[in-house]
Amino acid sequence: MSEISVLAIVSEIFPLIKTGGLADVAGALPAALAGEGIEVATLVPGYPAVMAQIEYAETVIDARPLYGAPARVLRGSAAGLDLFVLDAPHLYDRPGNPYLLPDGRDFPDNPFRFAALCQTGSALGFGAAPGFLPDIVHAHDWQAGLAAAYLHYDGRERPGTVATIHNLAFQGKYPAELLGALGLPPQAFSLEGVEYYGTIGFLKAALALSDRITTVSPTYAAEIRTPEHGMGLDGLLRTRAERLIGILNGIDDEVWDPSSDPLITEPFDVETLARRPANKAALQDKFGLDPDPGALLLGVVSRLSWQKGLDLLLANLDLLERLGVQLAVLGSGEPELVRQLLEAAEARPGRVGAVIGYDEAIAHRIQAGADAIVIPSRFEPCGLTQLCALRYGALPIVARVGGLADTIIDANEMALASGIGTGLQFSPPTADMLGATLERAARLWAEPEIWDELIENGMLTDVSWRRPAALYAKLFRDLVRER
Ligand code: ADP
Repeated sequence: MSEISVLAIVSEIFPLIKTGGLADVAGALPAALAGEGIEVATLVPGYPAVMAQIEYAETVIDARPLYGAPARVLRGSAAGLDLFVLDAPHLYDRPGNPYLLPDGRDFPDNPFRFAALCQTGSALGFGAAPGFLPDIVHAHDWQAGLAAAYLHYDGRERPGTVATIHNLAFQGKYPAELLGALGLPPQAFSLEGVEYYGTIGFLKAALALSDRITTVSPTYAAEIRTPEHGMGLDGLLRTRAERLIGILNGIDDEVWDPSSDPLITEPFDVETLARRPANKAALQDKFGLDPDPGALLLGVVSRLSWQKGLDLLLANLDLLERLGVQLAVLGSGEPELVRQLLEAAEARPGRVGAVIGYDEAIAHRIQAGADAIVIPSRFEPCGLTQLCALRYGALPIVARVGGLADTIIDANEMALASGIGTGLQFSPPTADMLGATLERAARLWAEPEIWDELIENGMLTDVSWRRPAALYAKLFRDLVRER
């Protein structure tokens, strides 16, 4: 089988720069696809963290003016990734978050910052870098969305295009007046192009103009075709349904391996589960919880936003207290949720602990030490934390939406009878349904043999990139053949 060359375009990539699951996927997919005969090079913005980590960098496109100052393109590598880096200090050399000012507002020039990325992706797609001509341009989320437009309206024969939706909630909508400034021709402002309810829609453009659309779970692929979950794009997604497919994410099973994880207190695997409680004790200590091995300990690792439904969990704090259940939360995000979490921890010493911030090491320690991981999302395109939980022997308790529906087997009566459950699901995502499910968890906790069977099932589940990578490879291959 001949090799297929893919240019991925993405605004964050693990381990260089990460705000969420998007970075994990962009960082893991190239290695997973290499085994399938697909070569991926990835174009990323030259944030300080990227510039500091790139090695063997050489200039492949010389400096030319881009939105008011010179920018050049480097090719190099970091962490085993083949990277193109858009070195444009006036756009990307800013401290902190890739998208936001320190006060949490979007950078005002975000349309230009990410249009610049897309224009560069389009140029690379047409062969602007010597010796590199991709068969496919794979654009991730709205930040890469305009690449499909630049490729389409250029007029030259273009590579195949694939758009992947990691979260439909983020769409990149900007004023129509920017059309010319963004280098788009007048005819691009149309129903078939970038026009989106009178604005320029970056993600909309990708969904309208790409040869294929993927999203990160089969259930989310179905949900986003409905008005309830489509966030204004369901109509377009219905008309393009034949081009839309859901492919689950995997996780990097070397980064997330409880038998060799340097970040946890006591490594373990499914054969040595007796070692796991040492991690629980360490977690209780870290979060100021009572050192009680018999108390069911729930963990949360999450962005703190409405999507993630943590208000539903906060509404059940009295119930948790009655059930003798402990809670350890790691999260960062909306100030109001931060305030409520800190207040809960203060009001319930020994029972509720919270760490506010983004911390890889603590995330690993929660996965290794908590008995269950709660994910009460109102919507969840795929979700990665439940996959980590499966691998680390923490029982996922999840809302039955999106990828959470596709990755967890609810321990209902039939699943228990057949010995196939891996977690608990609830639906609809309301505080009452979550409460009833937490009671169900407490009853299962009282039956250690059943509990252990559930987490062993989870630990034996294949959450790697093997199957997803084969599905992406098939999609890329079909597209190349079609063109
Ligand atoms: P999303 O991308 O919507 O935030 P996902 O579940 O797809 O949600 O991916 C979240 C990723 O970020 C997981 O790898 C999770 O462990 C990690 N994560 C989320 N919040 C934190 C945090 N506060 N500290 C460390 N890791 C976090």
